[in-house]
Amino acid sequence: MAKAKSKFSENLIKLKCGVCGKINYFTRKNKKLVERKISLQKYCSRCRKRTEHKEVKK
Ligand SMILES: [Zn+2]
Repeated sequence: MAKAKSKFSENLIKLKCGVCGKINYFTRKNKKLVERKISLQKYCSRCRKRTEHKEVKK
């Protein structure tokens, strides 16, 4: 695990595969711009297909 102490980590969210639960992506959310839950179609390496990824709070 890399050290990730920065101001950016405050808004860091994970994107979890809605099918298998694997966390595949990390992103930062601007709370001022994005208030609703993020849900994206992303490729999951475990499912080997594009699935719905939802945000996970740390
Ligand atoms: Zn998956």
